[in-house]
Amino acid sequence: MTWRQLLRGRSPLARRLVVCTVLFSSAITLALTLFQLYRDYRLDVSVIESHLDQVERVHLPTIAESLWATDQNRLQLQLEGILQLGDMHFIELREGDYVWARAGRLESANVIRRQVPVVYMHEGRRQILGTLTVVATLDDVYKRLLDKAVTILVSNAIKTFLVALFMLMLFYLMVTRHLQRIGQWLAQHEKDSPPITLDKTISTPDGDEIDVLARTLNEFRDGQAQALEAAATEHKRYESLFDNANDMVTIVEPGSWRILDANRRASEYTGYTRDELRSMTLIQLGPPESAREVETALRRLSTNGSSVYERAYRRKDGSLFPVEVSGRVVQLGEARVIENFVRDLTERHHSEQVLRERDEVLRLFVEHSPAAIAMLDSEMRYVAVSRRWMIDYGLGDRDIIGHSHYEIFPEIPQRWKDIHQRCLAGATERCDEDLFIRADGQTDWVKWEICPWRRADGEIGGVIMFTELATERKQVEAALRQSEDHFRTIFEQATDGILIVDAQTRYLDANSAGCQMLGYSREELLKLSVADTIIPDEVLRIGPEITRLQGGNVMRSEWRLRRRDGSILLGEIAAKLLPDGRMQAFLRDITERQQADDERKRLINELMARNVEMESFVYTISHDLKAPLITISGFAVLLAKDIEHNDKERVRDSIREIKKAVDGMQQLIEGLLMLSRTGQIPGEPEDVDLHALLSEVQARCASYIERERATIRVVSPLPRLHVDRPRFSQVLQNLLDNGIKFHRTGVAPVVEIGAEADKGGVRLYVRDNGIGVEKRYQEKIFGLFERLDTEREGTGVGLTIARRIVEQHGGRLWIESEPGGGSTFWISLPDSVIVNGGVGEFVRDISTPG
Ligand code: ADP
Repeated sequence: MTWRQLLRGRSPLARRLVVCTVLFSSAITLALTLFQLYRDYRLDVSVIESHLDQVERVHLPTIAESLWATDQNRLQLQLEGILQLGDMHFIELREGDYVWARAGRLESANVIRRQVPVVYMHEGRRQILGTLTVVATLDDVYKRLLDKAVTILVSNAIKTFLVALFMLMLFYLMVTRHLQRIGQWLAQHEKDSPPITLDKTISTPDGDEIDVLARTLNEFRDGQAQALEAAATEHKRYESLFDNANDMVTIVEPGSWRILDANRRASEYTGYTRDELRSMTLIQLGPPESAREVETALRRLSTNGSSVYERAYRRKDGSLFPVEVSGRVVQLGEARVIENFVRDLTERHHSEQVLRERDEVLRLFVEHSPAAIAMLDSEMRYVAVSRRWMIDYGLGDRDIIGHSHYEIFPEIPQRWKDIHQRCLAGATERCDEDLFIRADGQTDWVKWEICPWRRADGEIGGVIMFTELATERKQVEAALRQSEDHFRTIFEQATDGILIVDAQTRYLDANSAGCQMLGYSREELLKLSVADTIIPDEVLRIGPEITRLQGGNVMRSEWRLRRRDGSILLGEIAAKLLPDGRMQAFLRDITERQQADDERKRLINELMARNVEMESFVYTISHDLKAPLITISGFAVLLAKDIEHNDKERVRDSIREIKKAVDGMQQLIEGLLMLSRTGQIPGEPEDVDLHALLSEVQARCASYIERERATIRVVSPLPRLHVDRPRFSQVLQNLLDNGIKFHRTGVAPVVEIGAEADKGGVRLYVRDNGIGVEKRYQEKIFGLFERLDTEREGTGVGLTIARRIVEQHGGRLWIESEPGGGSTFWISLPDSVIVNGGVGEFVRDISTPG
């Protein structure tokens, strides 16, 4: 089968390959054979030549001798001997025309001939005896060469034939049949046919060229499938773009201007269906009067390949609308078509109109603006300028429109020119204070702002300059600054607090006095509002007060403010509304004034109490002093009678009674004296050790204590007090005396003295085991001359004095008692009179048992 196919020539490629190989191989064989034959020929010829040389060298001398001896036989023999040498064909010895000897026959044309003279040396002389001609034939040589050539060619022809056959087969097996398979596959290949497979094993890891070809074809097949898919997607996308494009798109046939296709947008805009559009020409899509113009534009487009032009489209309902057409000629397969992108310009025309109007408004605005404004174009030429500009820069009535800014103001520095360039490139620049040195030497302070303005197409058309001559303003500012500084100084140095708040009562400013009064730093205060610095009870007052202020009233009232540390500041606030809606308040600390006021009230109350006391005092005194006087006067009458009756016993009694009354009066008067002294200005307070003071008091009434067999005990540590020593000693003495004096019958008096911590101070107590005091008399006994027990000595002044002294030290004196159960007199004293770390120290003392 293979062979048949081969022989039938179904593999022309193989055949051509084999023919070429055979031809090439034959040519080479031929060339090599020729070369070899030539070499053999050269070799044979050289052998012949060497024979000839041998004749000349070896045989010629003997021939010369034979010739000298004219020995013709020997000569003949010698010549025939030479003829035996290979390829010798003919030999002749001749002297002139005479032939001495000859051997062989001269028949062949292919010969090598050599003629040599026969020389004989006789007696030293060279004798030429004749000429020897030797002829060698090449016929044998040629015959050998021919044989050899035939042998080589025949054997090579057989070899080449066999090799060619083998190659033919091999080529078929290795290449041809696979190529045929690939050819068949390619011929039958369709989009989804399977990949190609070959009937062969892959010899090397990568395979041979055929494998590579098959693989490449398979890859190509895969790539092609993907490409087809991509192309399909692309097509779909194009279709979607075409249909969903914002612009109208039409495909038109050049020349006839027939609409081949139009997208959905085109239908929407024109009101024609797609099919209707497909039956129209582009020219019919416009008003008839523009037909010629449109056709010219279309011709230009189809010649130039692309063009953009504006025209009008007519809707199905006859209305017109402006469009911009961007057309280009494209190749769609075989056909050339025009592709038009058409944009509705209605909106743009409208905006351009608006922009034109805007430009006009801008120009008018600039011209009539009360500020100094100039509008310049991109060459810095005036387009519009305001009246103020002309006045500010002393331009009078000059017509500067169209003139360059730099021509009007040649003194403009390069620095400003650079700024103009930057603004023309789109920047906006401003400066609050810039110095403009005019050509005439005048200097002006200018505040300016330069910004670009844009034309209807959005391009920068030039710049607008706003300027304000600040020379005058600067002077005013300086004056204002001075006045501000002045005000600041007053503001800061005021002893009253000055507070500025906004309508929401947030602090806006405060002077240092205000900050100090409220205990905040300025920064802290400015984060607060009034409500944060007023005690909660008064916050509700703020609203109505603000309303009153805003109604134009001036407020002056007292407020309890809360400082940063929580303490309360009693302040008087005088507030009013400022023209800008803020409120200004003057704050004065009236704590001292209030204290003085309170003190005054207290003193008045005290005075009144004293007056009342004085009244009762006077009454009591007059009453109590009257009683002994009545006694004395009574006994004086009795005494007179008794003296008349000379009743000595009764006289003595009466005198004793009178004496008793006088003593009583004496005591009363002493008590009064003592009381009056306590009312006087107290002595200087000093540090007093209560233990020491108590010892002194005890020592003073030692005999009394002893007589009454009383026990005095200090039951706790006692504080050191900062008090009026003599008077405090008097208080202790009175309480100690009473404790012993009012003992129960048959019970030895025991008096205990101690101290305990009290809220904000200390409480001393003097406790006895005496008769006690009924509840209803417990306050009464502190009254002047009040005594419950007249049996025992006394004036009823002691407790009155004691209470007054304690009160003068800011303390209180009272009794706790049960009748028959002893009494406790309490003295509470404020922290201020306790020495050495106050109550804290004392409390530590009493907690350590001593
Ligand atoms: P005097 O001691 O001179 O009588 P005081 O003013 O010291 O005057 O005392 C007034 C009265 O209070 C006393 O007369 C007494 O009735 C009563 N009194 C004072 N101290 C005690 C006491 N410790 N126990 C019972 N009664 C007392």
